[in-house]
Amino acid sequence: MGWDVGVIVGCVLLGLAGGAPPPAESPSLQRLHNPANICGQGNMWRGCSVRAHMSWDFTHRRTCGSCQKLIIDSSVFEVNLACVECELAVDVLQGELNAGVSYEAMVAEAILVCSGMAGLTETYCQGYIPLVAPIVYHVFTHKNVTARDFCGMLMASKGCTSDNPEREWSVDIHGEKPPVEPIILPEPDAPKLKVLHLSDTHLDPLYTPGSNAACPEQLCCREESGLAETEEDRAWYWGDYRNCGSPAWMLEDMLAHARNTHTDLDYVMWTGDVVPHNMWSTSREWNLRLVRETNALVRKWFPDVPVFPVVGNHEMSPLDQYSNPGDAPEELSADWLYEELAAQWAHLIPSFNDSTVLHAGYYSVLIKPGFRVISFNSMFGYGSNIWLVQTSNDPAGELAWLEDQLAKAEAAGELVHLLGHIPPGIIDVHRAWSREYNRIVVRYENVIRGQFFGHTHFDEFQVFHDGERPVGVAYVAPSQTPWYDLNPAYRVYHVDGDRPDTTRLVLDHETYFLNLTAAEASGEAHWERLYSARDAYGMAALTPADWQDLAERMAADRSLFDVYYKHYVSAGDPYMALGCDDLCYQQRLCDVVTSNRNDLDSCYEVLRKSQQARDRKD
Ligand SMILES: [Zn+2]
Ligand SMILES: [Zn+2]
Repeated sequence: MGWDVGVIVGCVLLGLAGGAPPPAESPSLQRLHNPANICGQGNMWRGCSVRAHMSWDFTHRRTCGSCQKLIIDSSVFEVNLACVECELAVDVLQGELNAGVSYEAMVAEAILVCSGMAGLTETYCQGYIPLVAPIVYHVFTHKNVTARDFCGMLMASKGCTSDNPEREWSVDIHGEKPPVEPIILPEPDAPKLKVLHLSDTHLDPLYTPGSNAACPEQLCCREESGLAETEEDRAWYWGDYRNCGSPAWMLEDMLAHARNTHTDLDYVMWTGDVVPHNMWSTSREWNLRLVRETNALVRKWFPDVPVFPVVGNHEMSPLDQYSNPGDAPEELSADWLYEELAAQWAHLIPSFNDSTVLHAGYYSVLIKPGFRVISFNSMFGYGSNIWLVQTSNDPAGELAWLEDQLAKAEAAGELVHLLGHIPPGIIDVHRAWSREYNRIVVRYENVIRGQFFGHTHFDEFQVFHDGERPVGVAYVAPSQTPWYDLNPAYRVYHVDGDRPDTTRLVLDHETYFLNLTAAEASGEAHWERLYSARDAYGMAALTPADWQDLAERMAADRSLFDVYYKHYVSAGDPYMALGCDDLCYQQRLCDVVTSNRNDLDSCYEVLRKSQQARDRKD
């Protein structure tokens, strides 16, 4: 997870147009209230949801935080002011460009506007704006983009929409979906695979215990964060709940624990984000250092176990900015990163062909006869990626490639696990990408037997539906970094093993964590088992239908949800103290049943069930 570039770019643009309101809630509460899924379905005008408004008042409040009612000719219009202000700002910017205002002057102006805004520091603005400005400039000067289109793309998560018909696209899908194959689960003593899932390590080599953990930046706990003014401000030894990266020794201790506790691992999945949250001071050198050091750390503890990595949004400098291959000049492209990933990953992945990683950071590998892992670059659907304004129609041909890989796997009788970084149902994912990814998952239900993501840093899941029934599930793993308010955690899956008629489904998973408060008090890191999915949630199995059932049971039973919430935040003490209020509860229920940003049917259904359960109680 990172700071939302769309919000920042949008905020700077908003600043140009006249200022944005400061956040009213604490960052943690904002995060819990964050509409991961609900926003701007079928807008009345620029982003507000007619349907959400009519169906659920509380949903509407989330959807249209910045919307205002306007009465024109006795009709009520709802206006998303954020979008309007963004469009005004883009008009100003484009006007300045056309008037010949120099690039340097505009960057300086943007830094000034940025620094004057709530929540953005001078350090941040002076570092970050010059990093992304060349991309904004390149897009404005190479593509005829309107203000509505630009804001619709970059601020889609705020409910802004584009009116550019080019933004609609679809992937060709091979053939009709074959009949759904019944799942016959194995006997309890059947062979299993044991798989470690690492995600969001965010190692900070500059982490300094005792330094200031309460600095105003997105990344503290460094010497540069200044002196801690009080004892409470001092950064903890094993990692800190505040805006701090992962100390190397904590990650090493975690890897040692995983290695020594699970001596029988078959392979490791690693779903990206190796660079810490110093978005204002990333560089090719810094990011490559993190890629190399984290790869070396993982290889050190798992020298003999295959590792299947994924590229995260933080690997790129500037953050999130992955261009469609061929769109960007060398100095702005991601080729330097792909080259290093290809070199590093060659040591992790058996029988690795680096050609697609060099193209755009994705690959497909047969890991056993009949069993394939496909790792893809989810930033080609990510709303914070400014390059998508230039090319949004299946950048890098990635989804077409994924579909083709699945068609070939189907023809060869293979089963597949998909690995990505950003889960497809969250609000930061573009609608077209989310929809097309879902179409592929629905079509290849018989082939795709697991999906694995990271990025949110929360321990969660997303159920996929075909309109009638659950057809797939994505596991979103907890992060190793505590950034922020979370405990470091890691996940182990038990997967249907090598036997005739194996389903390759996840049969159970276990999560281990480090309580940072206890580690700070004792000085020692004690990694403990937090829970197993089947035990904690009383699940018969972990099929998509079982996860849908869990969502519905949580909708009817708040105490069961409370168990989920504890795991969702990796039992992080600050989040446990904060608790999950009604808005947070409803949001989480929607999150777990929403894999397609364009389809909120399951969200409304689960909220309806929750409401009915409450009505019955009252
Ligand atoms: Zn991420
Ligand atoms: Zn992350």
